[in-house]
Amino acid sequence: MRRRRAMAPPCWWRSRLREGGFRLTGPREAILQILSKVPAHPSAEEIFFLVKQLYPQVGLATVYRTLALLVNMGLIHKLDFGEGKARYELVQGPAAKEHHHHLLCIRCGKVIDCGEFGEKEREFLNKVEAPLSEKYNFQITNHSIQFYGICKECREKEG
Ligand SMILES: [Zn+2]
Ligand SMILES: [Zn+2]
Ligand SMILES: [Zn+2]
Repeated sequence: MRRRRAMAPPCWWRSRLREGGFRLTGPREAILQILSKVPAHPSAEEIFFLVKQLYPQVGLATVYRTLALLVNMGLIHKLDFGEGKARYELVQGPAAKEHHHHLLCIRCGKVIDCGEFGEKEREFLNKVEAPLSEKYNFQITNHSIQFYGICKECREKEG
């Protein structure tokens, strides 16, 4: 397909897959498309459910395998909130946000992206990372922070 529809997201992952020597198979494309559209952080099972609507013949094992491959290639992030299931999000692209952190509601499992620290966060983390780097002689390149709590809706329900 040469012509790109006005609303179609730019498929940055195509060149990344090609560079990695991987073909863009149906399930790979489907998973990346799904992750570029859903705002939430779906689990493998939720992704499987959505992939099945496009590719009914695809099995859960294929979805797991494909997710692992995409994580290894650095195209998607695997998030572990300690729920006994991993969740996934794109590292870049339309539905993926800039560097951000997560607020997880321990009641309903909702994950909220928060990326608005900006300056303050950088200042704070520089203070934390510099002594860590020094103490462990470790070059820190990234971090992930998760906050746990109870969302507004759940607190209202609980009264
Ligand atoms: Zn951060
Ligand atoms: Zn909640
Ligand atoms: Zn996120």
